[in-house]
Amino acid sequence: MTDGNAGAHATKYWHRLEDGRVQCDVCPRACKLHEGQRGLCFVRGAEGGEVKLYSYGRSSGFCIDPVEKKPLNHFLPGSSVLSFGTAGCNLACKFCQNWDMSKSREMDRLMDSASPQDLARAARRLGCASMAYTYNDPVIFMEYAMDAADAGHELGIRSIAVTAGYMCAEPRLEFYKHMDAANVDLKGFTEEFYWKTCGGHLQPVLETLEFLKHETRVWFEITTLLIPGLNDSDTELEAETQWIMEHLGPDVPLHFTAFHPDYKMMDTSPTPAATLSRARAIAVKNGIHYCYTGNVYDAAGGSTYCHGCGVRLIEREWYELGEWRLTEAGHCRDCGAPLPGVFDGQPGNWGRKRVPVRISASARA
Ligand code: SF4
Repeated sequence: MTDGNAGAHATKYWHRLEDGRVQCDVCPRACKLHEGQRGLCFVRGAEGGEVKLYSYGRSSGFCIDPVEKKPLNHFLPGSSVLSFGTAGCNLACKFCQNWDMSKSREMDRLMDSASPQDLARAARRLGCASMAYTYNDPVIFMEYAMDAADAGHELGIRSIAVTAGYMCAEPRLEFYKHMDAANVDLKGFTEEFYWKTCGGHLQPVLETLEFLKHETRVWFEITTLLIPGLNDSDTELEAETQWIMEHLGPDVPLHFTAFHPDYKMMDTSPTPAATLSRARAIAVKNGIHYCYTGNVYDAAGGSTYCHGCGVRLIEREWYELGEWRLTEAGHCRDCGAPLPGVFDGQPGNWGRKRVPVRISASARA
């Protein structure tokens, strides 16, 4: 519920400390807050002796995207997704590609208001199969995302979390009960990279990945943004892909995507296409069945191939689908092998369009 202070929404994952402060228990940051103080994410803060969420029902913008842009290649391919985010983030990545939203502290100026029901109605009206909590991490606005997911489910709309997976066990358990799919950023595979470049730790993210695989039915895929000289060595890519094989198995799709200079890393070069191909080759060598390249033109690295017979099952050029060789049930038409994922008969035909929308107009019309 939202109290009298506009936008301050009650939360439940926090506890009082002996010194009078309150500690937020949503993510491993464990912010310890004096009355009136905000956490690192800036959207949660101490008020009235509790931790409140200040971005409930407010958004930094809406777009209709192809689901492949999240990226999810095995979840309702070709369908459209109503994407939105709020403001703030619980990591501090120097390479952030959405820093205008994730680092924003001017929420009043940035945000549209939309109730969970407004969002769900808009998604249905706009023909979207899903809503995606993206642009900034839904971990920090979990109450809003969960309520939106519930409202969506009542109208047959599914929910996708695009997240860094930096979350504590108890809220994570509740959060993913409401989600249908996730794309988890595994930002690198050394503690040094996580700490120096992202301001966080690797282990909690690995725990989220194992939790998703072994304790939920959420469909999830992994993305690693490769940054030249920082997280793209053969040693690190070998370690990451071997860990995925050992702990998650061969069928969790992995996306290697290209970095573009942004935020505090304007002096680092963009990722060459050859680096993505090298990473993909290492993943395939180590046994990962579905490894993709992203943010570069690579028709082979963007398409899905049957693990049983090698035939191309789903052709993609950027986010646009071409040839489709799956049965209604998501099996290879040639050899019958199932393709892991969530398929709903024929593919969608949204294409690669990205269409900004105003929810207030479409939801309440
Ligand atoms: S969710 Fe925000 S306030 Fe809570 S611990 Fe994480 S960064 Fe701190």
